[in-house]
Amino acid sequence: MTAAPEIGVLALQGDVREHARALEAAGARTRSVRRPEELERVDALVLPGGESTTMWKLARAFDLLDPLRKRIEAGMPAYGSCAGMIMLADRIRDGIEGQETVGGIDMTVRRNAFGRQVDSFESDVRLSGIADEPYHAVFIRAPWVESVGAGVEVLGRAETGSNAGRIVAVRQGRLMATAFHPELTGDFRVHHYFADMVRRATEQED
Ligand code: GLN
Repeated sequence: MTAAPEIGVLALQGDVREHARALEAAGARTRSVRRPEELERVDALVLPGGESTTMWKLARAFDLLDPLRKRIEAGMPAYGSCAGMIMLADRIRDGIEGQETVGGIDMTVRRNAFGRQVDSFESDVRLSGIADEPYHAVFIRAPWVESVGAGVEVLGRAETGSNAGRIVAVRQGRLMATAFHPELTGDFRVHHYFADMVRRATEQED
């Protein structure tokens, strides 16, 4: 039997500790990732919520952008929440000038999309394949997914208010992203789902 896979949490900015706690509750081992050497050691990566413009600038300053892109292209599982969803998007709208992402998921994400009307809100979301009972989702200056390519599976959509129908959870192969913050609610079904995906991916490679 091999050791449980180790899931890194990108620790440049944002709710790093909350993700580490949620992953551990889901049975994963975790490690903070700030440097390219730390990225090389992990089996998978979580990109936390926070502020994508700051995360991008720090990732660039720490020489992490290219290593992140390479590992994702090579098949490393990754999950991004909120700002992390923006980081995993191939295309963004309403970014600041020059803002780059790591990319990986064939989608266009609009920053602060819900935030134009309300800064934060909570809503139940049905997450296909993840949660039989609706997931109580917390959105904070959240993006939404404006469009997805053919290879992207939509896992969940906003269900209430004028934004009902907007895509808020997606998966493409070993990459997944949510516009909301499952690390903040104590309901770790999304982290369990990701940890299971990572376990299966590492078993395939052994
Ligand atoms: N609005 C933030 C951004 O652009 C994301 C907010 C969040 O992660 N809670 O990165």
